[in-house]
Amino acid sequence: NSLTIVNKLKEEIERQGLSDEVNVITTGCFGLCALGPIMVVYPEGSFYSMVKVEDIPEIVEEHLLKGRIVTRLLYQETVEEDTVKSLNKTAFYAKQKRVALRNCGVIDPEKIDDYIAQDGYAALGKVLTEMTPDQVIQTILDSGLRGRGGAGFPTGLKWKFAAANDADQKYVCCNADEGDPGAFMDRSVLEGDPHCLIEAMAIAGYAIGASQGRVYVRAEYPIAVKRLQIAIDQAREYGLLGEDIFGTGFNFDMELRLGAGAFVCGEETALMTSIEGKRGEPRPRPPFPAVKGLYQKPTILNNVETYANIAQIILKGPEWFASMGTEKSKGTKVFALGGKINHTGLVEIPMGTTLREVVFEIGGGIPNGKKFKAAQTGGPSGGCIPTEHLDIEIDYDNLLAIGSMMGSGGLIVMDEDNCMVDVAKFFLEFTVDESCGKCTPCRIGTKRLLEMLEKITKGQGSLEMLDEMEELCHYIKANSLCGLGQTAPNPVLSTLRYFRDEYIAHVVDKK
Ligand code: SF4
Repeated sequence: NSLTIVNKLKEEIERQGLSDEVNVITTGCFGLCALGPIMVVYPEGSFYSMVKVEDIPEIVEEHLLKGRIVTRLLYQETVEEDTVKSLNKTAFYAKQKRVALRNCGVIDPEKIDDYIAQDGYAALGKVLTEMTPDQVIQTILDSGLRGRGGAGFPTGLKWKFAAANDADQKYVCCNADEGDPGAFMDRSVLEGDPHCLIEAMAIAGYAIGASQGRVYVRAEYPIAVKRLQIAIDQAREYGLLGEDIFGTGFNFDMELRLGAGAFVCGEETALMTSIEGKRGEPRPRPPFPAVKGLYQKPTILNNVETYANIAQIILKGPEWFASMGTEKSKGTKVFALGGKINHTGLVEIPMGTTLREVVFEIGGGIPNGKKFKAAQTGGPSGGCIPTEHLDIEIDYDNLLAIGSMMGSGGLIVMDEDNCMVDVAKFFLEFTVDESCGKCTPCRIGTKRLLEMLEKITKGQGSLEMLDEMEELCHYIKANSLCGLGQTAPNPVLSTLRYFRDEYIAHVVDKK
């Protein structure tokens, strides 16, 4: 495994007498999971993939000692002639733009000095010494940044609402309870660049007048939890969290809270209720968290990827951020590519990149020469996008218009062998399991919907049942209390819309 490779590498470097010249940095995820373990040698940037322990002596002797790149181990798929086969010339990276993931795979996430060397905490210094809270909020508003957790609400507006409410205590929260099947965007940021989250939350605290932060993180992410705690401790040690930060009189500190595996706790009001130590159930809004959130105090909640953009917006300016993306969706978006695709992994693309580019260029196409059938975005809340929409420019509004949604960034590719009714059933089983049961449309409605789907896949359905399912979907969407129920029917609705023939085949052929 990777740890054995790292140990072997250090051992060989020492054996060859290179310890004073070569520095080994263990980083977070590079994104190209399908080709791991990955090793990049600088200054050339040579990108070795699928490295094995037995390759290490050769890499050390040939490359590090004699300066000769080991071409047989290089990742060969580059978009232009490039003798060192560097990372950003690969087909996987060439069309990506790394903003939220800028430090993942670059720095050692357990060393605050590595983060500082990449301009880390410079944005916090800038806002505390050169900007008023209103100017910070205006900068985020001008950038056009929208929440990356799914709903796409303008981040600056959320901050503005919370700043406008006076209170003796306010809170800045982070939703790191990533629960969509197949999604690991937030996990990679937490594991690869935890300080960017701390810095952004402190900036948000300054902007809205909060001195306390809480990160609600999945307990199933032990490495993320460990690295985040190390980062918090280091930030305190360096005076970047705590009292009188940068000698400006600004106080801000934060703590972790571990989630216990309930998907519904990703919903903002359920998340805050869970942090308070109560059963994690959503509550009606209004009041919105900006008015009454955690412990009934004004609170903002953003997800990890949203925060990962903040420091760069402050340092490079809102115009820089707004220059990327489409008219109403600015910046970049991270997706976890999975399913029937060659380059499974984590990608960050400018908004407006087409689905075709993501699947066939960045993702390397479909394995075994199979045909593309659909891509599912938005996890259990999203929908399936068929071939006819492969040229859609990915942004919040375009995805909604075709019956899917951005969601937090899961992107699962299906080929010609996938049964789309099974795909809808898979996601619905998930939401039925995860429904908290508080309201009837979701608790009972999704269960009845699943029973109909099961009948159809067992050859016991009827054509009338398809219309009944559609009607029930709209009822559940319109009457559920929270986002989980309101979006749970989406996978069924979108597959009924684009792949109705597959439902009909189950009904007519009785299989
Ligand atoms: Fe709970 Fe579902 Fe109602 Fe949300 S919609 S409150 S998850 S029962």
